[in-house]
Amino acid sequence: MEIMKELQQLFPSADGNQQQRDELVGHFKTILARMDELKDPLKLTLGGMPNYTEDYYNRIIQNAGVPNEGISIEETIDKLMELVEGHRFLNSNYVANATPLPNIASLLGNLVMVLLNGNNLWDVDGSAAANAEVRITSMISKITGYDPHQSAGYTTWGGQGSIFTSLRLAISRQFPHSNKEGIPNNLYCFCSELSHFSLYKSVEATGIGINHMVRVKTNDDHSMNLLDLHCKMNQVIKNGGIPVYVLATMGTTDTFGIDDLYGIKQLLLEIEQQHNLQSIYIHADSAMGGMYTFFNDYNFDVNPLQFEVEVCDILKRYHSHLKHMNLADSMVFDFHKLGQTPYITSLFLMKDKEILKYVDLDASETPYVGNRSYGSYHTSYTLECTRMGSSIPIYSSLLAFGIEGYQQLLANYLRVNIAFRDALKKEFSNVAVTNEVSPVTTFRFYPESVRWQAELAGDLMSKEVHEINAYNENFAELIGMERHRIFFGNTKKQRLISVTDSDKPLPVYVHKFYTTSPYSTVEEVDRYILFLKEHMDIYLKSPILV
Ligand SMILES: *Cc1c(COP(=O)(O)O)cnc(C)c1O
Repeated sequence: MEIMKELQQLFPSADGNQQQRDELVGHFKTILARMDELKDPLKLTLGGMPNYTEDYYNRIIQNAGVPNEGISIEETIDKLMELVEGHRFLNSNYVANATPLPNIASLLGNLVMVLLNGNNLWDVDGSAAANAEVRITSMISKITGYDPHQSAGYTTWGGQGSIFTSLRLAISRQFPHSNKEGIPNNLYCFCSELSHFSLYKSVEATGIGINHMVRVKTNDDHSMNLLDLHCKMNQVIKNGGIPVYVLATMGTTDTFGIDDLYGIKQLLLEIEQQHNLQSIYIHADSAMGGMYTFFNDYNFDVNPLQFEVEVCDILKRYHSHLKHMNLADSMVFDFHKLGQTPYITSLFLMKDKEILKYVDLDASETPYVGNRSYGSYHTSYTLECTRMGSSIPIYSSLLAFGIEGYQQLLANYLRVNIAFRDALKKEFSNVAVTNEVSPVTTFRFYPESVRWQAELAGDLMSKEVHEINAYNENFAELIGMERHRIFFGNTKKQRLISVTDSDKPLPVYVHKFYTTSPYSTVEEVDRYILFLKEHMDIYLKSPILV
């Protein structure tokens, strides 16, 4: 059939012939060259940003349609380049969030992943990803202090997917019949006020209910307040509730607050004993901060990589918490945040593989895979059926960087933040830095003098806090208009503070400097500060209104 011959040209070769390979490589080269042409180290976007008019997406809807006859690969590449135009590129101008520039090893891993296109559901259909998944589970278990022969892990849909799965495990471990009979109506979960909204969604979806998610107050360092946890847990128990789950955040998304996991574990042991309760599940939400466990075996006294004293001090502080992460029943590594790999590359890790029996499907429930004599790796316990092999890019990235390469990257995030904070405080008399040194700096401007300490002490009236929030929100609007130059982040709720005239604590609006690009070095800091200064000068002349 001539037509099939023609169609075959749209696929990789079956026999490894050079002609089809050269064509494919040629297309890769075209794409890389055309993207490179659009790069500009002084701009955030690849080429110009599109004009996002009111009807931008409506016009797309109107014009979209599958062509009757396929277009050539060259024309297809042209169309792809239309998508690329104006896309943000993770160079040093992106300082808004923990957003990765995938490193080359991980890109190659991704390429191998799609070229093989294994299905990570079972090894018969995806031997490479199964193999890589077992490897990275062992590698990260060894770093974090899980027993690699007892632990289990798999790649899944993000930090959020890991929270959802861990909650599901927590419920079914304590109530093995709940999978069949539904869950009891008196289960409770605990997390800090600053934890990720993932748990909110998970209590909805598991049927626990949002009213049964207890938000625990935070300390000034953005970690969970254990006195409040104790108090609220006792209250729940007194009223007949059963605590099943605590989410310990290891690096909050906006401020990098790290919960005292050791303290939480001790407290839970005490409460369990006192009230004769079953073990309460702890998930370490280490989506953001987990990578810093790569310093677990770093010799801080010798400091072999010669980090600055200030950097070392912060790393030591993290270490004092992260070395206890193995006390958690499960944890997660979002390599697509501080690990610089493509979306989605999340590894969910469990301390004890036995726990999977509570959520695993019976072999008779999986008729087309699993209950065969062949294949010995079958992940019927995941919420996904088909799974991508994202263990492969993670694996290649871990190999190419090694522990030391990652230590250097992770230390640089801190180094740049220290320099940014110093410069910010030097150049602005009306700014307060509102979190501890970490890969992220949160800061807040004031119309006149800095009032952060008074705000923290709860000495301001709500009207005043609202005004300062609006002042910052307006400024964020102003700098956001030039986000194609430098893109700062912001958050409407960095934390809550008390006010004098109301019982209701108020959220604090702050700007965020979060940079994970390897191209963000201390040399770039002056440019960030200059950008803010330029805009502050404009703002002071004519503050715009939101
Ligand atoms: C990002 C983040 C999540 C969600 O992770 P995704 O990979 O985006 O699903 C959960 N918790 C924390 C602390 C995070 O920073």
